[in-house]
Amino acid sequence: MKAPLDRLRIVLCRPGHPGNIGAAARAMKTMGVTDLRLVAPARFPAPEAQWLATHAADVLESARTHASLGDALADCVAAFALSARPREWSPQVLAARAAAARALELAAHGPVAFVFGNESAGLSNDELFACQHLVHIPAHAEYSSLNLAQAVQVVCYELFVAAGAGIPGSRAERLATIEDIEGLYRHLEQAAVESGFLVPGSGSKLRERWRRLFSRVPALEREEVNILRGLLKALQAGRKGKFFDAEQ
Ligand code: SAH
Repeated sequence: MKAPLDRLRIVLCRPGHPGNIGAAARAMKTMGVTDLRLVAPARFPAPEAQWLATHAADVLESARTHASLGDALADCVAAFALSARPREWSPQVLAARAAAARALELAAHGPVAFVFGNESAGLSNDELFACQHLVHIPAHAEYSSLNLAQAVQVVCYELFVAAGAGIPGSRAERLATIEDIEGLYRHLEQAAVESGFLVPGSGSKLRERWRRLFSRVPALEREEVNILRGLLKALQAGRKGKFFDAEQ
């Protein structure tokens, strides 16, 4: 089965500057999105596209050119239109982040496209009507129109993060499990009782308080839990050592 990001497609409608096509390819590749479609580009292939794509030449080479937007979207289960301006007709305007989350859900069923307009004119009404969702990248009211490739970058970044690809696997693997954290709670309790800090049966809310405290840490790593447990162990050993010394 395809990874969700492989089902995402970037469609550039009538791009005027080949440099923007190359820069869009690069923006896509840095975020793991590779399916690029060009609808009636003014000039392509072109050296400017190669220059700006740099190490994303493969995305550029595999880009498919279509005569119409309908052709580029034919096999898609959904299309999201990107517009810098509010439109009279608007299905439901989603901010880029919400659109990315929705698109990834839909991508479970088939290819999903994000459709971008021409640099000077934006998307035509017909192009907009070919899509089911309208997306806006929040930007300053005074000048909210991003460069085409930069708009592609923002959308691909949101898709990348929404797909969970922003969390490097190694970190995800390092996260403490519930069992690790329960082990820490047990250890805290043991040390608290041993030290006399917690008197069993006293009605103390200590256990609830540290659960509440740790629940506010979004992702404890296993190593962090081990550091705390190591410290508790050392303090426990230190206390025992002291008693031992005192007894001598
Ligand atoms: N002058 C055009 C904008 C061209 S920018 C206009 O006013 O519509 C090229 C394309 O980048 C736009 O068609 C749109 O698809 C995308 N884009 C740029 N800024 C955006 C924004 N703030 N929100 C959503 N899409 C944007």
